[in-house]
Amino acid sequence: MVFTKFLEKIALLARLSVKERKLLSTPDHVWKAVLTVNGKKYPAYRIQFNNARGPYKGGVRYHPEVTEEEVTDLAFWMTLKTAVADLPFGGGKGGVEVDPKELSGGELEELSRAYIRAFYKHLGPEVDIPAPDVYTTPQIMAWMRDEYEKLTGKAAPAVITGKPLENGGSKVRDIATALGGVYILEELLRQVSINTKTVAIQGFGNAGYNAAKFLHKQGYVVVAVSDSKGGIYKQEGIVPEKVWEIKEKEGRLGCYDVGTGSSINEIKKDGSCKIISNEDLLELPVDILIPAALGGVITKENAGNVKAKIILELANGPTTAEADEILHKKGILVIPDILANSGGVTVSYFEWVQNLRHESWDEKTVQEKLQKKITDAFRLLWKEFKKKDQSLRTTAYIFAIRKILEAEKNRGRI
Ligand code: GLU
Repeated sequence: MVFTKFLEKIALLARLSVKERKLLSTPDHVWKAVLTVNGKKYPAYRIQFNNARGPYKGGVRYHPEVTEEEVTDLAFWMTLKTAVADLPFGGGKGGVEVDPKELSGGELEELSRAYIRAFYKHLGPEVDIPAPDVYTTPQIMAWMRDEYEKLTGKAAPAVITGKPLENGGSKVRDIATALGGVYILEELLRQVSINTKTVAIQGFGNAGYNAAKFLHKQGYVVVAVSDSKGGIYKQEGIVPEKVWEIKEKEGRLGCYDVGTGSSINEIKKDGSCKIISNEDLLELPVDILIPAALGGVITKENAGNVKAKIILELANGPTTAEADEILHKKGILVIPDILANSGGVTVSYFEWVQNLRHESWDEKTVQEKLQKKITDAFRLLWKEFKKKDQSLRTTAYIFAIRKILEAEKNRGRI
């Protein structure tokens, strides 16, 4: 498990008792199942880490490399994230070890319904509320809600968030992770100034692509993006929508010629745009680096080569504990995942509230609420961070852990 390394360090700094350490390193429940679709078997998990502050909350990931350890890390981080974002939730996470790209639409639906059949007794609007994560979509959330309601016999829109709008979803939820990250970045740049605003983004899924679009629109120069197959670098900046078009057409990211919009083959002649690897992207000389794909990509091996001034962690767990130390010593400002990507779960919370109150909020309302909530969370941590010589991650961990332990104490559990 990765999270225990971070926790060990925090335990010393925050002088946690043995009992407190044990509580914070042990999930409340680990539910496991093997899902069968068309004769093939897929290991599945729902891990409920802690519910001292409210019902368990967190996404479900479909990925070939999902393991129990990874889901446990992610469930721990959700517990901290909801505390940092000041949401009345605990933390949980789900995952299925599957490559969803290899499934037909029908198989994907069957897998999603099978997931709910396996775990529905442990879920519920006041118990545990799943949501999208890597490679899970609003459509999958709609199937999951439907299956849950079939099994329980009553409407329960608040059992899951990230649903399509017509199925009880919230406006802005689809872009919330990226938008929240951009709000934080803008607030940060009111506190620290940088001369240029070049950005490299690893990951071109929901978080990465939307972040690229928002930042490009706001005048940042997005010089590099990548997906699981590799990336591109263009010094004068890319237009994210055009790169997206190429990805749709050719199945991978590619350079294009600004004048003609023509695609990858022409570019090779034009030396200004280069095909790069995911590893290259992390070491580019940019102002802002945004890991927005999978965990464990900034390690002790490459942290020393990172040249960015600011890292905005839109992915969960992109930086290992050893790399985190190196980045801090180098003076790189890391906005940790549990703050940087909390826009997603924040709008999930708004969706849950709307469902429970039978309301539907307009786009402006949701955006303003998100901006306020996430900016407040950032400012609170920033104030603490300025007082001490510790990283923003350490500050956020200590802040979240104190809140969780206080809730535990008030309940009389410790
Ligand atoms: N999967 C997202 C996360 O890691 C969203 C979780 C949610 O909305 O519950 O924060």
